[in-house]
Amino acid sequence: MALLQISEPGQSLDPHQRRIVVGIDLGTTHSLVAAVRHGVAECLPDLQGRVLLPSAVRYTDPALGGSGRQVGHDALAAQHEDPGNTITSVKRLMGRTRAQVADVDRLPYRVVDEQGMAVIETVAGRKTPMEVSAEVLATLRFRAEDSFDDELFGAVITVPAYFDDAQRQATKDAAQLAGIEVLRLINEPTAAAIAYGLDHAAEGVYAVYDLGGGTFDISILRLTQGVFEVLATGGDSALGGDDYDNALAQWVLAQAAPAQAAAPMAAADRARLQSEARRCKEALSSPEGQAEGVVFGVALSVGVLSHRVSASDLAQCTEALTQRTLSAVRKVLRDARLTTSEIQGVVMVGGSTRMPVVQAAVGAFFGQTPLNDLNPDEVVALGAAIQANALAGNGNGGDLLLLDVIPLSLGIETMGGLVERIVPRNSTIPTARAQDFTTYQDGQTALALHVVQGERDLVADCRSLARFELRGIPPMAAGAARIRVTFTVDADGLLSVAAREMVSGVEANIDVKPAYGLSDEQIAAMLQDGFATAQQDMAARAWVEARVDADRLLVALRSALQADGDLLEPAQRQAIEALMQRLTESLQDPDPSRAAAIEAATKALADGTEAFAAERMNRGIQQALAGRRVQDV
Ligand code: ADP
Ligand code: MG
Repeated sequence: MALLQISEPGQSLDPHQRRIVVGIDLGTTHSLVAAVRHGVAECLPDLQGRVLLPSAVRYTDPALGGSGRQVGHDALAAQHEDPGNTITSVKRLMGRTRAQVADVDRLPYRVVDEQGMAVIETVAGRKTPMEVSAEVLATLRFRAEDSFDDELFGAVITVPAYFDDAQRQATKDAAQLAGIEVLRLINEPTAAAIAYGLDHAAEGVYAVYDLGGGTFDISILRLTQGVFEVLATGGDSALGGDDYDNALAQWVLAQAAPAQAAAPMAAADRARLQSEARRCKEALSSPEGQAEGVVFGVALSVGVLSHRVSASDLAQCTEALTQRTLSAVRKVLRDARLTTSEIQGVVMVGGSTRMPVVQAAVGAFFGQTPLNDLNPDEVVALGAAIQANALAGNGNGGDLLLLDVIPLSLGIETMGGLVERIVPRNSTIPTARAQDFTTYQDGQTALALHVVQGERDLVADCRSLARFELRGIPPMAAGAARIRVTFTVDADGLLSVAAREMVSGVEANIDVKPAYGLSDEQIAAMLQDGFATAQQDMAARAWVEARVDADRLLVALRSALQADGDLLEPAQRQAIEALMQRLTESLQDPDPSRAAAIEAATKALADGTEAFAAERMNRGIQQALAGRRVQDV
C-alpha cells in the first residue's frame, strides 16, 4: 500500500479540527483498539482497564430476552457451559467456505455452508463470520467513542498479510456492519513495522515474525530514510497458538488417557481441554513455568484428567509447529533473494512469540536475538493507530511512505485451462498491469474471462475469483482482435479487472467481488437488526452512488446525442428526452432515502437508449473498418 503522507511536516490540525480515528487489530484471539493521543499511540482500555478484548461472541436464546449476545470476556467466560453458541477464532472463517477452513471439525460450534460461505449455526439462528466480527468491532468502536466522548471518523483495520481478496472484503463488510468507516486495511506485520520503525528508525532489512492465535505471518521489510518497503510476505493462514494448544491437549490425552485420545469427544469437553491447554502453555512461558512445569488438570464428563507437563514436554510436542513457521520463513527469504545474514533485525509480534521455545528457535534460525521491546500483543494496533492518524491528516510526523505487496499471483485462464499470470505475487501495490490477448476463432464476438489467484499453472489448482464476459467484439479473423486485459489492485489489496477490445473500443470490467458474494441487499437486511448509524451510512452511500451513476449516464448521453443524434427518428429522440427529464427530476429530490427512485429512472433511461447505443456502436465500427479488409485490421 502506498501510504503517502498527507499533511506537511509541522502543519498539524487544530485540536478542534482533529478527526477521531483509531487503529484496530482484529485478531483471531484478541482484538484491540488504539489511538494517537498527544502524539503518542496507546491502546484504549475498557472500563475495567483491560486492553485486550477476546474475539469471542456468545449468542443466547432470543426467547430468554436480553440483548441476545455477549461479547469479549463475558462470552469467553460462558464458553465452557455453552461452547456451541460461543464463537471464537471466527477470523479463520472470514471469506471462506467450510471446506477451506482448516480443522473445521475441531471447532466447538457448528459450521455449515450457505450461499458459498461458511456460516455458524447458533441458538439465535445462522450467523455469518462478518456479523460475528462486527460485534467485536462495534464493541471496540463504542469503547473508542466513550473514551473520546465523540463519534469515530474512521479506522485503519489490520489483516494478516496472507489474507486474499475474499478475506479482505469480508473484513471490510464486517466493519461496515459495525458502522465503521474503513480508512484502509493494512497488513499486520506492516503495522508492527510502523510501530517499530517510527520509534527505532534504523535503516536496514528486517523480518517481522508474527505468531498469533490463529495465523502466522512473516514479512521482510526494508527501511530506508524513513520509507518502508515490504520486500516479501508469506506465512500460513491456519497456524497459530491455537494449534499449540491442540498439540498439547492431544499430547496430554495420549499420555494420561490413551483410550480417550482416540474416542470422539463431547464439544464441552473439547472446549475445556483446549482452554486448559492454553492456560498451561501460557504458564509454561513464565520463569517459574520454565523451571518447575505445570499441572494440567481438567474435569471432563468421563472423569478427571491430571498430568504434569514440563517446558520441554511442550517444546517437544509442538516442535513440528515451530518448524513449520521456519519453513515459511525460509521460503520467504528465497522469494526476496536474501540470506539470514542480511537480516538486520527480527521483530516479534503476536502473543505466541512469548513462548521461550519460539524465541529460541527464531533466534537460532537468524543467528541473533529477536527484538521485542514493544508489547507483542499491542504492537499491531499501535502501528495501525499511527497510520490512521497520518491518513486522517492529524499527523505532524515525518514522511511515511509504505509500499506493500500482494501475497498471491493474479492471472486469467487461457486456452487449455492454463493460468496466465498478470500480477506476480509480491508485486508492490497499488498496481495496474496489462496484457494483450486475442481471439482464437474466426468471427468470435465474445470472450469469457476467468480471473484466478494462486501460484500454480493449472486453473484447477488455483482459486477462482471471478468470471465475466467481453461481448460485442466485431467479427474478425482469429488472432486479429487485440484485447487488453488490465488488472488494478488498489491500496487495500482489492482487485478490479477490465478487458477492452482495442479496435472497436468495446470493454467490460468487474470488481472482483469474492465468491461468497454478500449482496448489498443482504448487508442491508443484516443491518436492520444491527447498528442504526451504519444503516444511515448505507442509505446515504447508496444515494450518493445512485446520483453518481445517474450523472455519468446523463453526461454520456448528452455527448452521444450531440455526436450521433442524427441516427434517431424525432419520436425516438422525444422518448429519450422524456426519460432524461424524469431522471433529472429524480435527482432534485433531496431525500437520501430515495436512492431507489434514482436507480429506477437511471435503469429506464439505460434501457430506453439501448438501441441507440447499438446503432452508435455499428457506426463506430463501420468507420473504424472503412476501407480496410478485415484481415488488415
Ligand atoms: P491474534 O493476533 O491471532 O489474535 P495474539 O497476538 O493475541 O493473537 O496471540 C494470541 C495467542 O498468544 C494465543 O494463542 C495465546 O495462547 C498466546 N499467548 C499469549 N500469551 C502467551 C504466553 N505467555 N505464552 C504462550 N502463548 C501466549
Ligand atoms: Mg495478531
